[in-house]
Amino acid sequence: MTFVLGLSGGIGSGKSTVCAMLEELGATLVDADAIVHELQAPGQPMLKELAREFGHEVIDESGALDRAALGAIVFRDEARRVALGRIMHPPVVAEMMRRTRAAVDAGVPMAVVDIPLLFEGAKTGTGAAAVMQFDATVLVWVPAEVQADRTQKRDGSDRDEVLRRIGAQLPIDEKKAMADHLIDNAGTPDATRTQVEALYARLTAAEA
Ligand code: ADP
Repeated sequence: MTFVLGLSGGIGSGKSTVCAMLEELGATLVDADAIVHELQAPGQPMLKELAREFGHEVIDESGALDRAALGAIVFRDEARRVALGRIMHPPVVAEMMRRTRAAVDAGVPMAVVDIPLLFEGAKTGTGAAAVMQFDATVLVWVPAEVQADRTQKRDGSDRDEVLRRIGAQLPIDEKKAMADHLIDNAGTPDATRTQVEALYARLTAAEA
């Protein structure tokens, strides 16, 4: 039996780090962001739909999605964000479900589905959270200041901009209350690995 784990966490909380640890232990990763990028690649039908909805200015000369242009359009406009979700969610979620099913069919011990806005979606009944079944969910978390520091160090993002984006997501206490399991990633990578190993052992033993 495959344990299907929904994993989430805010920007720079350590989702990718924890997913890599779970993969080393034997889990198969289903990465929502990677699927979004694949389905938005030049030539994919999703780009035509985005151009129809938002205008050709969201596609650059090379035929790739201009994420900054699209972001500027949807940033302050709830109705446009809903329109974006209507185009994006069905094919992305279908592909996430297909890959999760393939992992289950292959009989791996765990499929970990990394969804940045899992708990936001669970609250509003949108995206993967509305239709996918997880055996449990886990939240990777660190204090907001640590999120901002690590994100700045990783990619040079502006600290205040990161803190503003964190402020636009669901408050951490609300996410913690919704999650079945928590990974505290504020300490050293080794301290995180210890928690990840214990969780993996517990969840895969429960399934065996
Ligand atoms: P996310 O996928 O949630 O955005 P990442 O896993 O990319 O977060 O982590 C953000 C940054 O912090 C990365 O550069 C990563 O290497 C670093 N990082 C993650 N966990 C730790 C940790 N426990 N201690 C120090 N740095 C960490």
